[in-house]
Amino acid sequence: MISLNTKALLDTPISDLIISSEKVAHVQVGNSAEHALLVLTKTGYSSVPVLDNKYRLHGLLSSKMITESILGLEKIEYEKLGSIKVDDVMDKEVVSLKITDRFQKALDLVINHAFLCVVDDVGTFVGILTRRVILKHLKKYIYQVD
Ligand code: AMP
Repeated sequence: MISLNTKALLDTPISDLIISSEKVAHVQVGNSAEHALLVLTKTGYSSVPVLDNKYRLHGLLSSKMITESILGLEKIEYEKLGSIKVDDVMDKEVVSLKITDRFQKALDLVINHAFLCVVDDVGTFVGILTRRVILKHLKKYIYQVD
């Protein structure tokens, strides 16, 4: 049986926990793979959201996706980086959360994703929710109820 405390935890609005869009490194639709690789390498993030100029979410991009796109039969074809666009290599099947979603849904989804993009009701990117933040919130709860 779920206790009242746990129910309150699961009902926490995710809006309390997100890293807001202005603090999230991203690349834009139309950017070259070369630019994206620079962003990924300099920030040290494993993947970043791909947004358009209206901040709508289009996909996710990782350095692995870029490396795979320039992998020739016998060598890495670095010279291709400038002509490949992020839209050609990004993952378009993004699992995202709505800003109105609750902690329970985020908890289910972060099992398979290091972070989740959060969008508003018209699909505008508002930020991310990371597995780290979810775990910290869970830890705080566990120590409180012990
Ligand atoms: P963390 O939980 O902080 O280790 O972050 C996990 C992943 O979430 C990172 O590898 C990035 O892909 C993404 N991430 C976290 N913070 C940011 C940020 N400020 N901007 C872009 N991506 C981020």
